[in-house]
Amino acid sequence: MNKLTRRDFTSKITKGTGAAMVAASLPMGINAACTPDKKLGIALVGLGSYSTYQLAPALQDTKNCYLAGIVTGTPSKAISWAKKYSLAEHCIYNYENFDTIKDNKDIDIVYVVLPNAMHADFCIRAAKAGKHVICEKPMAMNVAECEQIISACKKANVKLGMGYRLHSEPYTQQVQEFVKKKTYGDVTFVSAEAAYRSTGNPDQWRLNRELSGGGALVNMGVYAIQSAIYGTGENPISLAAQEFSTRPEYFKDTDETITAQLNFPSGAIANITTSHNFSANSMYVAGTNGWFKLQPANNYGPLSGSTSDGKVLDFPHESQQKLQMDDFASHILHGSTNLAPGEMGKRDMIIVSAIYESIAKGGKTIPLDIPKDYGFA
Ligand code: NAD
Repeated sequence: MNKLTRRDFTSKITKGTGAAMVAASLPMGINAACTPDKKLGIALVGLGSYSTYQLAPALQDTKNCYLAGIVTGTPSKAISWAKKYSLAEHCIYNYENFDTIKDNKDIDIVYVVLPNAMHADFCIRAAKAGKHVICEKPMAMNVAECEQIISACKKANVKLGMGYRLHSEPYTQQVQEFVKKKTYGDVTFVSAEAAYRSTGNPDQWRLNRELSGGGALVNMGVYAIQSAIYGTGENPISLAAQEFSTRPEYFKDTDETITAQLNFPSGAIANITTSHNFSANSMYVAGTNGWFKLQPANNYGPLSGSTSDGKVLDFPHESQQKLQMDDFASHILHGSTNLAPGEMGKRDMIIVSAIYESIAKGGKTIPLDIPKDYGFA
């Protein structure tokens, strides 16, 4: 088998950090020309497992941003994090005094890493405080909340990015390039799976609809939706969905397993599966001249991929979170492409809502009215 590395491609994959400068779009307070080496200060809101084990370690290696502050409801975490990461006292907040962050010049970006039901509130408060915002997935509880976040960021003239780390990751970027260049012909079919088996505390927030907004679909299903979209390069025009429940005593309040079929304007179709009851982590794309696949396709990496003409994708592994946060900071500092804009989060929430609607209507096909390029970077 041939090894396919990034160097094999004549045209480089578009990376946020390498994209064109757009000085006119620089937000308030940031003058990239005068501060070429400036690193932006990030404050993490919510110090749970994702912040602790992925984001904070990644921020030790980022080149465009650094861990400048924290927002936590747990005083003991404030003490241990301040010590571990040498955080200044004036950069430590709790949920009540968070709004005073507006006076803190050392914090440029607020990264909301809380249970889903709290995303909209903290993203909007961050925007009102004049801070750029990164919002974790799923963007919010419903489409209306996504719109509120987007309009709060527009009104405050701050940038908004989603925590969709895969858009900064080379295997995913290679998939996007195959689709764009039609390397394996026109895409006709995508199969995408994103799932894991949940066995922990049945009272965790992810299984509580009031805090999560849904089950497997909002947690893992967004990755499968994303794969279907960057696997076809299009937004879907309709979908139908089904729900399966085999452990109702554990999944009392949220969906366990969902499948959905999506139709795209070109005629391509996608079949997606998501679950909190079994493991699955892959995407397969069939084109008129061959196929390519990633497996795994959506964990923290390294990912792995191959193609119908015997190539093995082989990219060096870097922290996806590091790449993602550096790309977003570069978007602010240098005007490079925002690889996962807020509109992408809203688009995915429109699809999530349509999937739930289809299930509620017994698998009925639901038409979607998402503009052709809406949500793409
Ligand atoms: P977690 O349960 O480990 O942490 C949640 C944090 O929120 C904790 O610090 C907790 O104290 C705090 N919190 C505040 N109010 C709370 C409440 N009412 N109930 C429960 N916790 C409360 O969760 P996590 O895995 O860190 O996930 C946080 C967010 O990050 C979620 O939106 C999740 O979808 C997202 N996430 C994204 C990725 C990714 O790969 N992009 C990976 C993991 C999690």
